[in-house]
Amino acid sequence: MDAPAVFTEADVYQQRFDPQAYLKEFYNLSDSQGEQNTFLVQNLRSLLKMFSLDGLRGDTLIDVGCGPTIYQLLSACERFQEIIALDYTDQNRRELEKWLKNEAGAFDWRPVVKFVCELEGDREKWAEKEEKLRRKVKQVLKCDVTKANPTDPVSLPPADCIVSTLCLEAACKDLATFRSALRNIGALVKPGGHLVMLTVLQETYYGFNKQVFSCLYLEKEAVEEAVEGAGFDIKLSEVQSYLPGDPRTDCKGMLSLVARKRASITG
Ligand code: SAH
Repeated sequence: MDAPAVFTEADVYQQRFDPQAYLKEFYNLSDSQGEQNTFLVQNLRSLLKMFSLDGLRGDTLIDVGCGPTIYQLLSACERFQEIIALDYTDQNRRELEKWLKNEAGAFDWRPVVKFVCELEGDREKWAEKEEKLRRKVKQVLKCDVTKANPTDPVSLPPADCIVSTLCLEAACKDLATFRSALRNIGALVKPGGHLVMLTVLQETYYGFNKQVFSCLYLEKEAVEEAVEGAGFDIKLSEVQSYLPGDPRTDCKGMLSLVARKRASITG
C-alpha cells in the first residue's frame, strides 16, 4: 500500500469515508483471532492518563474531528459536564448520533466501555458510563478545521477544554495548514483551558476497506512547535512507538499531548 498521489482532504472524506468499515477495522478491542488491539488499548490508557491530570476538568468540552467514535470521550466524560462533538463528514456525525440515540445498527462499543471502566477501577460501571456519555453530548455539529471559525456559521462559546484525536494529521495537507488549523481550533478554548491531543507520528497513509487516506507526516517536535505557536504551553508530551508490520498503515508512533492556553497571546 502507498500514500495517495494527491492528499485526501475533507471532500474525499465526505465522498468515500465509510464509518462502519472504519469502526470495524480499528475499534474492536480484539480481532477475529482474539489478538488484542494494541493501537486502541494504548490510546485508551493515554486518554485516561491525560484526563486524570490536575486541572483537566470543567463545564464544557469540545471534541474536534470526532469521526464516528466515542472512545476518546470515555474518560473525558467523567471530568466535564457538557460535550459538543464536531466533524466535517456527514456520515460520521450520523454514525455517532446512532450510538448516542441507542439506535439499531449502531456500533457496539460495550467491550471498549467495559475495558475503560476496568482501567478506571470498576468494570461494572460500564452501563452508567454509557448513560452518562449519552446524556452529556449535547450537540453534534459540522466543522472544518481549516476555517478560521471551524463551526461557521455557528459561533460556539469558548470551552474549558478541547480534545482532538487523529484528526488534524488527516485534515491538513501540509505543515502550514496544520499550524493554522491548530490556531483555528485553539480559538475554541478559553484562556487557561486545555488542549488534549492524540496524533500519529511519521505516518503517510492509512487504509481500510480498499480505501487509502493520506496522513501528514509529523515529527513530535513539529507538533509541539505548532501547539506552542497556537498560544499553548505544553504540559505533557509522550511518544509511544507503534510496532512496524501493520499492513494498514506506515505509522511509527503515537503522540499524547496536553497543553494549556496562555492567558494572552505573547507569540
Ligand atoms: N477522532 C476519530 C476520527 C479520526 S478519522 C478517531 O479518533 O478515530 C479523521 C477524521 O477527520 C474524520 O472523521 C474526518 O471526517 C475528519 N476530517 C477530515 N478533514 C476535516 C476537516 N477539514 N475539518 C474537520 N474534520 C475533518
